[in-house]
Amino acid sequence: MPLLELEKPSSRQTMRGTMKALVFRSAGQFQLEEKPIPQAGPGEAVVKVRLTTICGTDIHIVRGEYPVKPGLTIGHEAAGVVHELGAGVTGYQIGQRVLVGAITPCGQCESCLGGHTSQCGGPIGGWRLGNTADGVQAEYFRVPFAQANLAPIPDSLADEDVILLADIASTGFGAAESGKIRLGDTVAVFAQGPIGLCATLGARLMGASEIFAVDPDPGRLKMSTEFGATLTLDGNQDPVRKIMETTNGRGVDVAIEALGQQVTFENALSVLAAGGILSSVGVYSGHLSVPLEAIHAGLGDQTIVTTLCPGGKERMRRLMRLVETKRINLRPLLTHTFDLENIREAYKLFESREGVLKVAIRVS
Ligand SMILES: [Zn+2]
Ligand SMILES: [Zn+2]
Repeated sequence: MPLLELEKPSSRQTMRGTMKALVFRSAGQFQLEEKPIPQAGPGEAVVKVRLTTICGTDIHIVRGEYPVKPGLTIGHEAAGVVHELGAGVTGYQIGQRVLVGAITPCGQCESCLGGHTSQCGGPIGGWRLGNTADGVQAEYFRVPFAQANLAPIPDSLADEDVILLADIASTGFGAAESGKIRLGDTVAVFAQGPIGLCATLGARLMGASEIFAVDPDPGRLKMSTEFGATLTLDGNQDPVRKIMETTNGRGVDVAIEALGQQVTFENALSVLAAGGILSSVGVYSGHLSVPLEAIHAGLGDQTIVTTLCPGGKERMRRLMRLVETKRINLRPLLTHTFDLENIREAYKLFESREGVLKVAIRVS
């Protein structure tokens, strides 16, 4: 646009206008603020947000338990429309509806080309939005490495159909995939929050014969049967003993840990058969210890594998195909909807965990 190019940077900023964004200031201090609408540099895009959601990780951020820079816009799950395309981003149109994964890999570095796109540029490096770069709980956000990360949403799907693929479904399925579940395997999933529920669904998709879902919350256990659990177990009622009894002392082929606590990690390891895989997606803090009897003094041939949410547009495309072909339906997880204006209330509700799984935030 030649007219814009003639403007001085300051007046150009004014012309671009401002937007509302949820900004982290310090532990417990976060609010909607006015910020300049971001601009797309080379290889970048700006997306106008239509729908976003709140993640458990965002709760850690606003409490100050996960460190981010003050002034950062929070959030990493968004569906929206292309607002601006930077130089070199091709094959997209302004106004096109897109899903952007929580993880935005460059697609070109050693880690990406080695198949570990979540670890782009270094450990956890693929997680930029709402972590090391401004996030998506805003009217607009900038997409780094746009060519690798703008996934067009098929017309047949609503924003609500795909929003949870950006993070929790990709993460939960990733846990099942990292567990290398084989047809007929017996699987236990510890914790049935949104990610654990998606891990349960992933285990079903991958052909597990039995899926034991463990959680103290009866509502979540009920949902887990809809997502594929064949047996539900109260997390407070000695689930290890029950699983060992049910499997005649053999244990499970794959145990998935989806909470990030010592007790669930230990339980997952304790029900793991010799030669089995413990697939861990929980986020831990402090120290994690390993009960030696559970790994047969170190001689049990078991594997422990960890997974960060896989991202990038090709991952998003394939997950959207699962929704399009009606192999999965994640909408039951969206239990509440709020407007961006009321996002603080949404945080309060989500944090309370009372009758809520995921909240949708409607932005435009
Ligand atoms: Zn998340
Ligand atoms: Zn990379």
